Amino acid sequence: MSTTTANTAHAHEQSMFEAVLARLDAAAKLMNLSEEVAQVLRNPAKQVKVALPVMMDNGKIKVFEGYRTVHSTHLGPSKGGIRYAMDVNADEVMALAAWMSFKCAVANLPYGGAKGGIKCEPREMSVGELERLSRAYAMAMKDVFGVNRDIPAPDMGTSGREMAWILDEYNKVTGEDAPGVITGKPIAIGGSLGRDAATGRGVMVNTLAALKKMGLEPKNVTAVVQGFGNVGSHAARLLAEKGIKIVGIGDHTASFYNENGIDVPAAIDYAAKNNRTLKGFKGATEIKSSELLISKCDVLVPGALQNVITVDNASLIQAKLIVEGANGPTTPEADPIINDKKIICVPDILANAGGVTVSYFEWVQNKAGYYWTEEEVNSRHDQKMEQAFDAVWNNAANYNTSMRIAAYITALQKIEQGVKLKGAY
Ligand code: NAD
Repeated sequence: MSTTTANTAHAHEQSMFEAVLARLDAAAKLMNLSEEVAQVLRNPAKQVKVALPVMMDNGKIKVFEGYRTVHSTHLGPSKGGIRYAMDVNADEVMALAAWMSFKCAVANLPYGGAKGGIKCEPREMSVGELERLSRAYAMAMKDVFGVNRDIPAPDMGTSGREMAWILDEYNKVTGEDAPGVITGKPIAIGGSLGRDAATGRGVMVNTLAALKKMGLEPKNVTAVVQGFGNVGSHAARLLAEKGIKIVGIGDHTASFYNENGIDVPAAIDYAAKNNRTLKGFKGATEIKSSELLISKCDVLVPGALQNVITVDNASLIQAKLIVEGANGPTTPEADPIINDKKIICVPDILANAGGVTVSYFEWVQNKAGYYWTEEEVNSRHDQKMEQAFDAVWNNAANYNTSMRIAAYITALQKIEQGVKLKGAY
């Protein structure tokens, strides 16, 4: 669990929501999406901003900004994580909420999309301050959240710990015991086995599916993974378990390269003892962070933050395959460069949908009050991800377009039905 402010410089160059709309418009044109449906999806359904006064450890009150945007509910209750980071703002939350709508539709889940966030620096807050902040947020959002209404989950800077506080506060305020109102919970209070590693697992399944289409054997393939938090560390571990040689890893503190392969479990052990950071890791040569994404490899997994593949570095990327673990790692301007280089890019709304897929399984288990084994969770997950990959791959061929635009088309084909069937006022 960590956060970053490193992308602030890029965040001001282009509105993230505009980046979503750019892709939405490209897909809409190609598939002839009805203009009415496009109009519905250009306008998030609900945007809530709250002020959260919190008593800090020094005895003084500090007011934080909290957000929740529900983008759509046409395919079911809205679903999406809660991010704690300094660069959280209304535009970012709106973009992430829209991506959730498309991601859930691509993964064929009965959900719409939402996202929430609090502008804060969790690494500089005590556990007590974080708990009070999380509870204040849950209280403020009590009418937004709901087990059949809007279901949050962890994102950057949050984990099962924050989910437990939010669930507890929600239950106290509503007087109900509704574990399914939030996912990504610790196992003891209704979490699902396999949820922790699920996003990394989805990255692995998508990588293997793409390599198969490309005629490449995992044992002959190298990979670089940016980010070593929830998504990056599990992705690197699972790719290595499938025989792929991990030659590069990095986080906000340091980046490393070793052409002979990095011992991923050793790096995970190291980070666990080093405040969840890689700085000082000895199993590879330290390189500049700007070199990581453009270093020699077959598969590149940007698994940390948005706007890292840009017009400045896209032409230098050496990978044949990009699998987007993070949300929004590639800017729209970099897309054509990647496409011209014939790099296959498995886009975020498909590649990192494993997390929300197992969140859905957690919600189903909570509703049923019956819990599955980790093997059941993983095999259902893998099946759903493989189906989603195939649907997008086939749409890319049918529409002669990139996997990114094909993923949007796959999502829009479903959401369009939801909008039309449910109708308007
Ligand atoms: P996390 O907080 O667990 O980890 C983030 C990682 O990124 C950390 O290792 C951090 O050091 C690294 N990082 C931060 N700034 C960096 C920089 N400038 N350069 C290199 N590394 C940097 O977060 P996470 O849950 O792993 O999420 C990562 C991305 O994946 C986000 O875009 C998130 O929205 C997306 N995502 C997460 C999930 C999930 O289930 N956790 C699901 C879907 C998408």
